[in-house]
Amino acid sequence: MKYKVLYRKYRPDNFDSIVGQDFIVKTLRNSIKNDNISHAYIFSGPRGTGKTSTAKVFAKAINCLNPVEGSPCGKCEFCTNFQENPDIIEIDAASNNGVDDVRTIIDNVKLTPSNGKYKVYIIDEVHMLTPSAFNALLLTLEEPPSHTIFIMATTNVENVPITILSRCQRFDFQKIKVSDLVNRLKEICELEKIAIDDDALTEIAYLSEGGLRDALSLLDQLSKNNQKISLNLIEEQIKTVSQRGINEIIDTIEENNVEKCLELIDEYRKRAVDYKNFIKKLIDVASKKAKNIKKTGRYKRLNYEDYKELIFNLADSITKVNINVDSFTIFEMVLLEFFDVPTVADGALSQPKEVISVIPQKNVDNALTEEKNTQNTNSIPVTVENNVSEDLINIRINNCFVNAQKNYLEEAKKKIATFANSLNIDGKIKSIMLDSNVVVSSDTNLILTCANSHNVETANKMLSEIETAFKKELNYDYKMIFLTVENWNAERTKYIENLKNKKVYTYIEEPTAKDELSTEINSVFDLSKVEII
Ligand SMILES: [Zn+2]
Repeated sequence: MKYKVLYRKYRPDNFDSIVGQDFIVKTLRNSIKNDNISHAYIFSGPRGTGKTSTAKVFAKAINCLNPVEGSPCGKCEFCTNFQENPDIIEIDAASNNGVDDVRTIIDNVKLTPSNGKYKVYIIDEVHMLTPSAFNALLLTLEEPPSHTIFIMATTNVENVPITILSRCQRFDFQKIKVSDLVNRLKEICELEKIAIDDDALTEIAYLSEGGLRDALSLLDQLSKNNQKISLNLIEEQIKTVSQRGINEIIDTIEENNVEKCLELIDEYRKRAVDYKNFIKKLIDVASKKAKNIKKTGRYKRLNYEDYKELIFNLADSITKVNINVDSFTIFEMVLLEFFDVPTVADGALSQPKEVISVIPQKNVDNALTEEKNTQNTNSIPVTVENNVSEDLINIRINNCFVNAQKNYLEEAKKKIATFANSLNIDGKIKSIMLDSNVVVSSDTNLILTCANSHNVETANKMLSEIETAFKKELNYDYKMIFLTVENWNAERTKYIENLKNKKVYTYIEEPTAKDELSTEINSVFDLSKVEII
């Protein structure tokens, strides 16, 4: 037996089998019952939503000799010979878009129907017609012969000239609801004896984005494996992340479970799932969450603004996808922005395997601080470094990561913006701050980047001046450190690696000037014999 693809086999032949367009079907049936038929219709909407099928059923009903409740009877001479009926003329504008094809239609328009009441012209993808073809069609629509009806279908109604639209009765087909798709798929699976899990049915409905034709094509493809269709089979075959998988990712963010999130992404990376499809679905779920927060005013960890930011960043990440870069790396970066960095105290990382100190303890002891330049007026001479030491940079980066949180970051950004725009601060500090961007913040520490690397160097030399000015202006203490964008990217990568390896940041005490002095002295004298005041 010749195999017939499902969507052809189950193409609706009456109004009852059209899925998910109840309002349109009801209106069309009423127009048949009341004999109130227009001369031109336009059916617009996404692909696979039943526009052409509805057009065919409607054409059949128009000429049916004994319509039942506005539906074709399926028994009369016209209904049974529908396929070969010369009074139904189907044109695919995607392949016949020239003015000559329309010219042929128009020439035929003058001919009366051979056996029905009307000649019905179904023009599929009508937006593909050329401008001169549209002009020719318009002339006919302006004064249609009483026995002709045009039904035009399009996925791009915005490309149909307004002069044409204004002469048509318009029906906008909606994407078919998931529940409607599931019900129809279920019916067909039963008829075809296709074994399928319930959640697999739902997944196919989601994947086909409201189009029954796509849903049936997918079902066709999956049923060829001759095994029960499960969610796993779909994920394997379609290279996609299931709706459940997408929800899982969102849940990890809501639960602040960075470890699980990275694990999931790794799995999808290994399976080489289609990245753009993945992002599209994630945006879809995130926008639903955002809308829900707006509606109910309730949220878990992420608020409306967070979801908005997530959506924009995800959309933005699609444009950054480059064949030379692992797309999932960009994706990880986008998502990680939404996690609060776990600390030892809150135990957000389960069973940390080891505790990380960025700097070996001995270096900490030797670290220099800026504080000595401004605060320590001790008479013992100390070598003053021009630049802030590498160690202090590392300590401050580490300490910022210990308790970095998103809400701190938002707060810090506001504070820094206020500071940068203040009229009271020194011009040099102002130009640095205006060039700076807070990238991580805890309640005590900030990491800032400057676009101009010269500013980074200057800022780190002036750290204590900047911090003092900041405190004077905003009455708040931050320990700051400035990095070039390049260095920050490297630090961020290290940080992500550490998270993946379940390492936890712990606070490292900044060396004080007194420590510094003792170190200096220690290197010259035997410390045990020197008393430091
Ligand atoms: Zn009939």
